[in-house]
Amino acid sequence: MMGSALTGPRLTRRALMIGGGALAIAAKSSAAPRPSPRRSRLILLGTKGGPTPSKARAPAADLLVIDGQPYLIDCPDGTSRQLALADVQLPALRFIFISHLHSDHMAGLGALLLLAWGAGLDTPITILGPPGLAKIVDVELAAGAPDIEYRMREEGRADLRSLVRSVEIHEAGPIADLPVRVSCAWVNHYTVPTLAYRFDTPDRSFVFSGDTAPSPALITLASGADVLVHEAMLESAIGRIANENAPDLREHLLKSHTTTDELGRIAAAARVKTLVLTHLVPAFPDITDDQWAAGVRRHFHGKIIVGRDLMEI
Ligand SMILES: [Zn+2]
Ligand SMILES: [Zn+2]
Repeated sequence: MMGSALTGPRLTRRALMIGGGALAIAAKSSAAPRPSPRRSRLILLGTKGGPTPSKARAPAADLLVIDGQPYLIDCPDGTSRQLALADVQLPALRFIFISHLHSDHMAGLGALLLLAWGAGLDTPITILGPPGLAKIVDVELAAGAPDIEYRMREEGRADLRSLVRSVEIHEAGPIADLPVRVSCAWVNHYTVPTLAYRFDTPDRSFVFSGDTAPSPALITLASGADVLVHEAMLESAIGRIANENAPDLREHLLKSHTTTDELGRIAAAARVKTLVLTHLVPAFPDITDDQWAAGVRRHFHGKIIVGRDLMEI
């Protein structure tokens, strides 16, 4: 079931096997070790920060696939469509991790649950996140009640409401009862309770920052990680964001988010191998990768990746 749910990994694995086979023939004379296929894949579903939809980028969300099982981190508007573009079958989802309850991190949750169920979800699905999450899930399922009842009556489906479980996280640390090692930390998103998550998979460790200003807890959580996926803000460009309904927006951004210069210091302090910039603010298409990376590079000498939608790492 899990293997058939994902077409992308099967294609990748087949390609890797072909590559590995060719290498193995050459290796008979050189005795080079045969590369093994990766057991973890990271797909950036979206890379834009903030609630305003954009033609250039989808809102920030990530998918970690571990031994064929997809784990979703954040669920903004349009996540169902981005998962389809990443060749992930929605009914394969078992676990969704929400960093915090700003709309650009959870506005797609109700839609995803209904659409995954409509596409055939018939196994339990667990959503984890900060306090307040359970009420949102309940309200989304209540809003979907007519669709759920039509399809149960007319199509004979199991009740979606019996498949969905919300888990509100109250304490930092390891998260129990998961098929993969995950731990979390409270980061510094000003007044908004926000979780960063760390996944220690069989071959690589990944940390997802959530939205945060520089946070010692994030540095501790990310210590020595293979891949840190962190939000980034380009301070020199935030003056270009105008919203007359939010007169305190600039002040909010500076208190709640991390500039590229600060991010370089964070990645260096955490000694991560690879830093992925995502949740880009502002996400204007004319800002180049070099502009995003410049502030980071002043402090961090590991690998820097400026995220793009559907990029695989
Ligand atoms: Zn955000
Ligand atoms: Zn936020």
